[in-house]
Amino acid sequence: MISVGGSRLNVAIEHAEFHLPKQEILDWIRRSAEVVIRYYRRFPTKQAYIGVRAAQGAGVKSGRAIRHGPTVNVSVGVASTVDDLEDDWVLIHEFIHLAFPRVPQRHHWIEEGLAVYVESIARANAGTLTSEQVWRGFVRGMPHGLPRSGDRGLDFTPTWGRTYWGGALFCLLADIEIRKQSGGKMTLRDALRGVINAGFDMTDQVDSLPSVLAVADAATGTAALTGLYERMKDSAEAIDLAALWHQLGIDSQEEKLRFNGHAPLAGMRAAITAVTGTHTHEPDNKDFTY
Ligand SMILES: [Zn+2]
Repeated sequence: MISVGGSRLNVAIEHAEFHLPKQEILDWIRRSAEVVIRYYRRFPTKQAYIGVRAAQGAGVKSGRAIRHGPTVNVSVGVASTVDDLEDDWVLIHEFIHLAFPRVPQRHHWIEEGLAVYVESIARANAGTLTSEQVWRGFVRGMPHGLPRSGDRGLDFTPTWGRTYWGGALFCLLADIEIRKQSGGKMTLRDALRGVINAGFDMTDQVDSLPSVLAVADAATGTAALTGLYERMKDSAEAIDLAALWHQLGIDSQEEKLRFNGHAPLAGMRAAITAVTGTHTHEPDNKDFTY
């Protein structure tokens, strides 16, 4: 059992010949939880079951968050090193799923989009991913989220690209819009904290995404998420990514990424990936128990 941020994580590690000591696997789970706690101010659920299954090879192979429990199962290669676990994003992605209620299947893009977007931002805010790594990942990934011909909007186009990266692009645009509408005082993070503070988590099933977005908007005093959803839910709105990167001050050529500090939204781009303080209302780390 790991006690972290006032929540209990019940960990079961499949008996296998992991090359790493069990303690290293527990430390990875705790570190991943801490990244999520730093973003949301607390772990999304009071308790969760974590199942670590053994796989061949090295690295974290796959993960799945399940409403029942709630439970997060991850497959980890038995030959994994500390560095493999340090580089992992899968467990954080699954933990982020715990922080949003289950929505009807047509809105699945918001569940995956949040997990993709927040995973990168939360790691940057925690100082475990550089801003260059985050934006390079977004510059590479976001084009997958653009509508193709025949697209009927996010709620009606359940392709891989639109689900994961279309959802992530929605989250980036929402983060920018919330910051604009609130004069930089509020962010997507505040909106999502509002959702869990209102008592929602993955163990809840809601009938309507707009009702959850309204809760999130209320937390920031904006109508950013609701407005963006109305625009993107059932129409294939063209999004000029090149113009967006330009406004944010991101110049990328091949593998090279350069930041332009004079771009109109350069300050916002820096704020999105800035390392944040650790206001988790935790005394300190000494009372972690396993
Ligand atoms: Zn996912």
